[in-house]
Amino acid sequence: MAEIITIGEILVEIMAKDIGQKFDETGDFVGPFPSGAPAIFIDQAAKCGSNTLIISAVGNDGFGKINIDRLKTDGVDTSSIKVLETQTTGVAFVTYKDNGDRDFIFHISNAACGKINESYIKEEEFMNCNYFHIMGSAIYNKGVYNAILKGIKLSKKNGTKISFDPNVRKEIINDIEKRNLLVDILYQSHIVLAGEKELFYLTGVEDEQKSVELLINNGTEIVVIKRGSRGSTLYTKDLIELGMPYKVDEIDPTGAGDCFGGTFISCINQGVGYIEAMNLASIAGAKAVTKKGPMEGNTNLNELKKIYKEFIGVK
Ligand code: ATP
Ligand code: MG
Repeated sequence: MAEIITIGEILVEIMAKDIGQKFDETGDFVGPFPSGAPAIFIDQAAKCGSNTLIISAVGNDGFGKINIDRLKTDGVDTSSIKVLETQTTGVAFVTYKDNGDRDFIFHISNAACGKINESYIKEEEFMNCNYFHIMGSAIYNKGVYNAILKGIKLSKKNGTKISFDPNVRKEIINDIEKRNLLVDILYQSHIVLAGEKELFYLTGVEDEQKSVELLINNGTEIVVIKRGSRGSTLYTKDLIELGMPYKVDEIDPTGAGDCFGGTFISCINQGVGYIEAMNLASIAGAKAVTKKGPMEGNTNLNELKKIYKEFIGVK
């Protein structure tokens, strides 16, 4: 039985070969790489040793197979990924700007994973689950949102904690309806793993500490703010702790936050203390950006612990 469950998009990523390459000009791309924020998260959670499951759908094609093969190899239970005969697997194309920003073209909502709905949620899967992890990027249509709401309901019934990464994409920043759905999930979450601007976007409170206080007063147990190469900050009712940034050469930033989340939730699921979990997650996020491809830099727990020991040894 899975201790950690997530739901949402599984896709392949096709990446521009050169920085500065544009979508409206012909150029070379590399891929397919297994991807999708929930998939990257759950792959990393499995690599860190927890029992994991992802609820999703792919097409009966190579893009679906490359994902299922990778997730299976890394220990994820893939039995709740439906292989749909009449749909194709999701795809994201990505280009990189000179300033480090990325541009995406997504084929998600009209792909196989766009078919996820309430019927995908099975009560028995939630009976012994410790964490239901929700990615904001998964709110790409009403079907998935309704499935997530059903998952939240079952989580509450079974004492499963809800962890949430708002993962707000610039594509939805002006979409009030989607924002409201994310806010709804935010206030029901026990653990929030957010980027620096995301709490402001969702709570309307500009000051970070005040927005965290608002959540903690509302019942959130843990908030972690992710700050890219500047590390992270852990907040609980009783402590504020800075997560050390682990210095690396960034090759591809995609997937760092998902990898951070997978490590953090998997570690606390196994009883690791919050501060150590954050630091291991920080290293995992850093390792993630050293490889081209969103899931290619995922790292197992033994390796993370080894780096952590060496790192605190030389601090
Ligand atoms: P995304 O949604 O694009 O995957 P995110 O905004 O959710 O990213 P980031 O803050 O980019 O998450 O990354 C998560 C964590 O990974 C950071 O808090 C940090 O610990 C680590 N990390 C990310 N990028 C780097 C980097 N260039 N160098 C060192 N550590 C990094
Ligand atoms: Mg993110």
